[in-house]
Amino acid sequence: MAVTVEQVESRLSTVRCAICKTSRFTIDRRTMQPDGEWKGACLKCRYSFPVHTDMEFYQRTQPDIPYRLKEITCPACEHRGVELDFRIAMSVREAIYFVTCKACGHQFPEQSSLEAFE
Ligand SMILES: [Zn+2]
Ligand SMILES: [Zn+2]
Repeated sequence: MAVTVEQVESRLSTVRCAICKTSRFTIDRRTMQPDGEWKGACLKCRYSFPVHTDMEFYQRTQPDIPYRLKEITCPACEHRGVELDFRIAMSVREAIYFVTCKACGHQFPEQSSLEAFE
């Protein structure tokens, strides 16, 4: 199931801008590519960062991702195992996964250490 631009914007408010540390972002509609590559921008300082929404393709090309998703623990119900909805690269060293708990449906951001050194 693909995420909508409104869903992405509302879930981005759970993380902080790499530059000014505020939590209000917008997706620039003009940058939305058919391959699922979007651009997010901070409303305060205008810092922009890539938003990747084609997670089917991503998980096909990164075979270790499904294993990592099985290890992520939900902060609400402590069940392990989540669905990956989309991901962003907030900075060179900060990749964030936006995931949904398979047990209770809780949605939360998860720092991705895997991509930390890409
Ligand atoms: Zn900012
Ligand atoms: Zn849960």
